[in-house]
Amino acid sequence: MIPTEMQVAMLRSVDDIAIERVAVPRLAEGELLVRTGAAGICTGDIMAWYVQRKAPLVLGHEPAGEIVAVGPGDAPRDESGRSFVPGDRVFVHHHAPCFSCGFCARGDYVQCATWRATRIDPGAIAEYFRVPRENVRDTLCLPEHLSYVDGSLVEPLACVVKSLRRAELVASDRVLCIGLGVMGLMHVALARNADAAVLGSDPIASRRERAQSLGARAVAPEELHDALAAWGGGADLVICGPGSSAALRAAFEACAPGGRVMMFTPLEPGAQFDLDPASFYFGDRRMIASYSCGPDDTRAALALLAAGVVSAERLGATIRPFAEVAAAYADLRAARCIKPILTF
Ligand SMILES: [Zn+2]
Ligand SMILES: [Zn+2]
Repeated sequence: MIPTEMQVAMLRSVDDIAIERVAVPRLAEGELLVRTGAAGICTGDIMAWYVQRKAPLVLGHEPAGEIVAVGPGDAPRDESGRSFVPGDRVFVHHHAPCFSCGFCARGDYVQCATWRATRIDPGAIAEYFRVPRENVRDTLCLPEHLSYVDGSLVEPLACVVKSLRRAELVASDRVLCIGLGVMGLMHVALARNADAAVLGSDPIASRRERAQSLGARAVAPEELHDALAAWGGGADLVICGPGSSAALRAAFEACAPGGRVMMFTPLEPGAQFDLDPASFYFGDRRMIASYSCGPDDTRAALALLAAGVVSAERLGATIRPFAEVAAAYADLRAARCIKPILTF
């Protein structure tokens, strides 16, 4: 039996997250209702300037769960033509594109107006959520052996798949990851999986240890200069994790001639960032941004998770019951944990 009311994690500000009761969404034709199995808290959602613009909101956009109902009329189908049915274990992408506009035609899915307008209802950190018709196109069945916890990593991992694709990672690259939070660690894991050499930098010792367990060398920021000397002073690809001008400046300083800097995290609108244009130009350097991910990336991420290249356990994620969402969020903000994943 599906109840009429459910609990959700409501964020009014970064200091005010509470469990509230709302109505379980009703379905229209072509839609799905999913009972959440697990949902992660995104590091993007602890950026106060970013999340405050959207507040109040039901937290979360990284769910995996079980389909418990389909809308009236014809059941929606997956790409292979198979109908989705109650009992299917799925990952659902929060945003899905139209697949027919100019942006979609060239794979720039996150610029598609439909991608921007779509969202699961009311959010991922809720006992149930509705999958609108558009989002069904980026709803993927999980392989039987993949847990909901690992399935909840599809969206964040897809962002890293996209980042390394846009950065044109190759095996001969020497990659520096500035910041070894969960997204930095995922970059480490995927770059190592592609046989690239990886160096990581982070002030927190436990994060450096985790990066080392994933196959990187890891140093404290004050040791970075010396560590880069072994690579002739610079990395071919620098992944800039933190969303700050200081981190971007450090990324450019660590980028070898001919190299690339990946800006993985936004800065607050209006923030200033200065780089030496001469060094940028004569060094033939490139700066690339990578915002979120599209349906091609979620499929690639799911395959990597299914193959065990990345898992919640390998990353050191913290699994907690949904009832502890406020404490889990506070711990993430205070860098007391690397990735909280809530279970339902
Ligand atoms: Zn996210
Ligand atoms: Zn489109």
